[in-house]
Amino acid sequence: MANPMADEMRRFKGSDEKNPFEAMSERFDRAATLLGLDEDLYRVMRVPSREIKVYIPVRMDTGHIQVFEGYRVQHNFARGPAKGGIRYAPDVTLDEVKALSAWMTWKCAVVNVPFGGGKGGIICDPAQMSIGELERLTRRYTSELIDFIGPDKDVPAPDMNTNEQTMAWIMDTFSMHARHTVTAVVTGKPIALGGSLGRREATGRGVLFCVNEAIKRFNLTPQETTVVVQGSGNVGGIGAELMHQEGYKVIAISDVGGGIYNKDGLDIPDVLAYLRENKSLEGYPNVEFVDNKQLLEIECDVLAPCATENQITSENADRIRCKILAEGANGPTTPKADKILHDKGIFVIPDILANAGGVTVSYFEWVQDRMGYFWSEDEVNSRLKDKMVASFNELCHYAEKHDVDTRTAAYMLAIDRVAYDTRMRGIYA
Ligand code: GLU
Repeated sequence: MANPMADEMRRFKGSDEKNPFEAMSERFDRAATLLGLDEDLYRVMRVPSREIKVYIPVRMDTGHIQVFEGYRVQHNFARGPAKGGIRYAPDVTLDEVKALSAWMTWKCAVVNVPFGGGKGGIICDPAQMSIGELERLTRRYTSELIDFIGPDKDVPAPDMNTNEQTMAWIMDTFSMHARHTVTAVVTGKPIALGGSLGRREATGRGVLFCVNEAIKRFNLTPQETTVVVQGSGNVGGIGAELMHQEGYKVIAISDVGGGIYNKDGLDIPDVLAYLRENKSLEGYPNVEFVDNKQLLEIECDVLAPCATENQITSENADRIRCKILAEGANGPTTPKADKILHDKGIFVIPDILANAGGVTVSYFEWVQDRMGYFWSEDEVNSRLKDKMVASFNELCHYAEKHDVDTRTAAYMLAIDRVAYDTRMRGIYA
C-alpha cells in the first residue's frame, strides 16, 4: 500500500469480531429494548432505506480506463434529507458505509438537526491518484448518483480523504446536470462557493465544546487538564489546536504514522506546522515517539480518538487510563470495549455527540445556501456552541434519568426522536 501510515492504523482495526454495521446494530438493539420500541418501528429503523452501489469508470492518466466501486447508503429520511460524508479509502466496505450512515441518522437526531443519515464511499487510494483522476472519479460518481442526491434528498459532505475541492466538483457536476447552480447539494464547500465560515473547524470545535462541559463534572479547569489526541487531520488536528488555545495541556498527538508525547505538553501549532512541512511527525524534537496503540494507553484526563473506527477494543480497553473519552472519530470504540470502559468508570462522550459539530455546521451551511444569506464566523460558532452545550446537557440528563451509560443514552435519545417522527408520519407499507 502506498501509504504506510494508513497501514499501521488498519493493522489494529477490527480486532473485535464484529463488522461496523453489526456493532452499530448491537447498540441499536440494546437501546431499542430499553425503550420498549414498537416491533414495527424496530424492523423499519434497524435497516437502511436504500443502498446504492455504483461502478465508476475513470480514464486514468495512462489513457486506460479503471473501474472503481462506490457506495451511497441512505439510512433514514424520517426527519429530513439524508446527510453525511463521502470517504475515499482503499479499505472502505459497504458494511462500514452502512454503519456510518446509521450513525449519521442518530447523530443528527442527538443534536436535533432536521436530517436523516447517509454516507458514501469509494474504494480507491487517493494517495496514488493524480488530481485529474480524482476529479474525474468524483464527477462520474456524482453523475451516477444524480437522481438520488439533492438539497431535499441527500446532501453529501467531506469525510476521510475528501475535502472542499471534492465538494466543489460534486456541486459543479450536479449543477451542470440541473442546468443551474445548486449550492445546497453538498456542504463543506469552499467559502466562495456557498460554504460556511467555521465549517472546516466545526468538528474539532464541537469536540472542544463537549470537553469543556465534561471537565466541569470533574471540577477541572482546562489549565489542569491533560489531553491525548489520536489523529491530526480535520478533527484531531483542529481539535488539538483549539484545545491548546483554550489552555489545555495536550501531551500527545499522532498522525497515521505514529505519535509524539511530552508529559509537559506540546506546542500544538508548532507540531502541526512541522507535520504540514514534513508530512510526518518523525524527527520532531524533545519528544518521545509512540505508536498509535501506545498513544491510546498514555495516562491523561481526556483521551480523544479522532482518527478511525475500532481503535479501542476488548484487547486494549483495560489499559486505557483517562477520565474522559471524547470520541472525535466515528465508531472508535467497539461494543465489547464499551463495557470495560464503563466498569472502569470512564466518562464517555459518545461519537454521535462528540463529533456532531461537523454536521451541525453543515446544517447551518445548508440553511445559509437556501436563504442566500451568509452569517459571520462568530454567529456560526456561537450557534454551534449553543447546540453542542444544550445537546451535551440533554444527553447527561437523559442518561441520569434512565440510569444508563452515556452511549446507551445517546442511542436511546436518537432512536426515540426518529421513532416519534416515523410514528407521526406513519409507515407507508
Ligand atoms: N463526515 C462528517 C461526519 O461524519 C460530516 C458529515 C456532514 O457534515 O454531513 O459527521
